[in-house]
Amino acid sequence: MVDYENAARHPGGPEAKRAVIVGAGIAGLAAALRMHREGWDVVVLERAPARRSSGYLLNLHGPGYDAAERLGLLPALVPRDIGFFTSVLVHADGREKFTVPAAVAQAAVGNRALSLFRGDLESALYDVVAAHADIRFATTVQAVTQQTDAVEVALSDGTHLRADLLIGADGVHSRIRELVFGPEADYLVELDHMVGAFPLDTVPAHVPEGVGTTFLGPRRTAAVMNLGPGRSSAFFTYRSPDSSAESARGAAPALTAAFGDLGGGIAEALQQLAADPADAYFDSVGQIVIDRWSHGRVVLLGDAAWCVTVFAGYGAALALDGADRLGAAVAAHGDDLAAALDTWEQSLRPEVRKRQALARKGISRFAPPTRAHVWAGDLMLRAIQLPGYPRSRPAIDPAREQLIATRQGERPPTRTQLVGGLPRTCPRQESNLRPSAPEADALSPELRGRGSTRLDRQPVDRAVHSVSHHRRCGQNEWWRISSAEAAGPRGR
Ligand SMILES: Cc1cc2nc3c(=O)[nH]c(=O)nc-3n(C[C@H](O)[C@H](O)[C@H](O)COP(=O)(O)OP(=O)(O)OC[C@H]3O[C@@H](n4cnc5c(N)ncnc54)[C@H](O)[C@@H]3O)c2cc1C
Repeated sequence: MVDYENAARHPGGPEAKRAVIVGAGIAGLAAALRMHREGWDVVVLERAPARRSSGYLLNLHGPGYDAAERLGLLPALVPRDIGFFTSVLVHADGREKFTVPAAVAQAAVGNRALSLFRGDLESALYDVVAAHADIRFATTVQAVTQQTDAVEVALSDGTHLRADLLIGADGVHSRIRELVFGPEADYLVELDHMVGAFPLDTVPAHVPEGVGTTFLGPRRTAAVMNLGPGRSSAFFTYRSPDSSAESARGAAPALTAAFGDLGGGIAEALQQLAADPADAYFDSVGQIVIDRWSHGRVVLLGDAAWCVTVFAGYGAALALDGADRLGAAVAAHGDDLAAALDTWEQSLRPEVRKRQALARKGISRFAPPTRAHVWAGDLMLRAIQLPGYPRSRPAIDPAREQLIATRQGERPPTRTQLVGGLPRTCPRQESNLRPSAPEADALSPELRGRGSTRLDRQPVDRAVHSVSHHRRCGQNEWWRISSAEAAGPRGR
């Protein structure tokens, strides 16, 4: 007979409902806090043997900041806020290209914003939750069985739990999703990039205090932040179509192979990583697209349900918001759990969809496809400091958009709809425009030296910004180069 050992740990009394939450990350701890507030007993299962260290930097603004406020976290988070810092764009050898003052980011985001280490956000949540929840480290779930009136989980320590609701908040590679919804391959959409991020034990000597330096090159970005002892960190992302091979190499060898040619603070950060790779976050970048986030008494939350990726800069915000809304929905629907989960999902889907789409469109900001894109990005960063600068629209991958639409149970977008998401064609596009010398330099090698760059109305996979064109037409438009043009010289 199964021994439900947890029966003794029922602080809410035998009448209280029970939630078992898998994962003590942002989503899991926020859910624990919210469900406890609704009078539920909460058990949190965490695979890691102990709480993790500071990790990488997170920004919370907009709905993420609002959710932190609703959860009552601001008094604990505000003292941990790093604030805005100066960004310096650097060349490969670490020399300065140009500076973006902290005030620019502040003006863009506003005052209702926090910059935090992931570990600080997790600690703030843990400190509130620990007194009320039964948190078990080094414990995971091996099996899930659903009945009409309960869900049962078999734990890795040989015990069993019975609950009213099982919340899978165990991250992008969720075990609960695999056990209840199916294999990861059915839901993961690879974005063909790797990301690495880690705290720096020693303050980087090549980066002034209070400054973050960023190197942006074709298909890769590296950033090193010197925010003083215990608060400095590094961030890397690069394009890689074979994420399994990169993951297998491990953080230090893979990041050194991808960024080892760079100097300055980046070289220092890689040396520190090689000496102590244990605290590094290193993973492929992939979105979770699943058409239903709950199944009976099991619900997925946070990255497990909808990972929007680092390119959205919004996953922690959605984890907090999602947890808060889950608590509110459960409170509003009483015993009707199905209605609560339906309402909850409907309220969150539009924001998740929007953030996932923005992340896919934002890839080229983190890993510009060509040198021309780097050049255009630099130009935009410089110009963004000017008042009234209109934002450009990025390139998107039509095949990926169609896969995602299909997974979401939607009609795949037409070519015209996809083109609508790309930069507009300049109204003066009829002429054959010859790039000026600096523009030609900025073009990718295969486009350089061509007689003329013909503008084309067809869907494209490359776009090059033209300064002289901008001057000519007085607008900040993008040139479109047809795929055929981008493919290389045809011996005209
Ligand atoms: C470099 C980087 C920068 C980012 N920047 C931002 C940002 O600026 N703003 C923002 O809002 N978001 C940002 N994000 C995204 C954000 O960090 C994530 O979306 C968020 O942490 C997801 O929280 P989660 O709780 O769903 O998952 P996780 O944080 O992954 O937590 C999952 C937890 O479950 C545990 N677990 C896993 N498997 C099991 C198992 N089988 N059993 C038990 N426990 C298990 C894990 O150990 C972990 O503790 C960034 C992400 C990265 C990588």
